[in-house]
Amino acid sequence: MNFDFDEDHTLLQQQVREFVESEVAPGAAERDSQAAMPKALISKLAEMGLLGITIPEAYGGAGMGTTASSMVVEEVSKGCAGTGVFLSAHQSLCVDPIMTFGSDVQKKRYLPALASGEMIGCLSLTEPGSGSDAGAATCRAELKDDGWHVNGSKIFVTNGKEAGVMVLLAVTDPDEPKHRMSAFIVETDTPGVRLSKLEKKLGIRCSSTAEFVFEGCVIPKDAMIGERGHGMRVALTTLNGGRIGIASQALGIAEACLHEATEYAKTRVQFGRPIGAFQAIQNKLADMRVGIEAARGLVYRAAWLKDLGQDYVRAGAAAKLFASELCSRCANHAVQVFGGYGYCNDYPVERLLRDAKITEVYEGTSEIHRLVIARSLAH
Ligand SMILES: Cc1cc2nc3c(=O)[nH]c(=O)nc-3n(C[C@H](O)[C@H](O)[C@H](O)COP(=O)(O)OP(=O)(O)OC[C@H]3O[C@@H](n4cnc5c(N)ncnc54)[C@H](O)[C@@H]3O)c2cc1C
Repeated sequence: MNFDFDEDHTLLQQQVREFVESEVAPGAAERDSQAAMPKALISKLAEMGLLGITIPEAYGGAGMGTTASSMVVEEVSKGCAGTGVFLSAHQSLCVDPIMTFGSDVQKKRYLPALASGEMIGCLSLTEPGSGSDAGAATCRAELKDDGWHVNGSKIFVTNGKEAGVMVLLAVTDPDEPKHRMSAFIVETDTPGVRLSKLEKKLGIRCSSTAEFVFEGCVIPKDAMIGERGHGMRVALTTLNGGRIGIASQALGIAEACLHEATEYAKTRVQFGRPIGAFQAIQNKLADMRVGIEAARGLVYRAAWLKDLGQDYVRAGAAAKLFASELCSRCANHAVQVFGGYGYCNDYPVERLLRDAKITEVYEGTSEIHRLVIARSLAH
């Protein structure tokens, strides 16, 4: 057994840490207040090769695996959780399904563009009436002579504002209860695709969250990925992997909370002593450290299983569930350690607390993950 990263991963971690320190962390507060992801930052992420970490070298990527992409999302999320999810959604919700289910033609068309940043990717699964119950989707795709006619709407699309390409889930076979949906690749500048709203959010504000309306949108017959009627398989496989990305984001936020709280506890003096000398504060820091170690083990074990091609579904759900709830606890502790200053936006822990919450909600809520894990025990 070996808990160390190999040389390639250690080098990547070092490079990404330096990049985050100089290019990502310094603008995090500004991006949060502007609720925007600057194009210049996207270009830098692309130049660093972070948009194509898992894309094979033949398509212009780095050809690394889930362990590497988890590490990238963790490190970037330490500096800016919104940028962390920008990368995670691009990678796990769009690149991954195209790599797993796309045809050779689709891979050639999209993977190089996704690796270089020419196109940003997103996933459109959620609808106003179907969130946790993804199978209740109503957005419709009907096959006609000139292609698939798509009509309906999708909400909560991460990267919707920046995306040039989306993986879309739509109902193709309404009378086939188990095979109603299919997955498609849709270019967002296709006539009939309209970004109708951008959400204003509690946290991860620089990450865009968009609503799309499809009206009279026609996409080519060969835009489908995977088999007709197997859209839920594409969606679930995608989300199973995506959870490891969100767990990595949660881990990064939790680490940022511990770092901020520890530094503050060393310097804030009350009753003539640094507050870090008080056992109540030490207990919080110790609990955060232990929780982070546990989350780290779960996250990288899930990534490792995925890289080995082994079953990682329960491991990924466990990592996401544990890391996200730990992340919220750490953010809460960090604000408490800062006292009143933690509640004000002069210090980053206020933003970290707002950013942390979403990790318990998207790509499957904690309630749904408990269901997934419990069901896996019954089989
Ligand atoms: C910022 C943000 C970004 C997102 N990004 C994307 C994206 O890129 N693409 C995309 O397609 N979607 C995205 N989503 C959607 C996200 O995955 C859903 O919000 C999430 O899955 C929950 O669905 P819902 O909001 O409809 O809540 P609901 O499903 O309505 O759930 C409400 C509550 O009921 C609970 N609940 C529901 N069913 C059960 C059950 N069977 N047992 C116990 N409890 C249950 C839930 O856990 C939750 O607490 C995003 C959402 C947000 C807020």
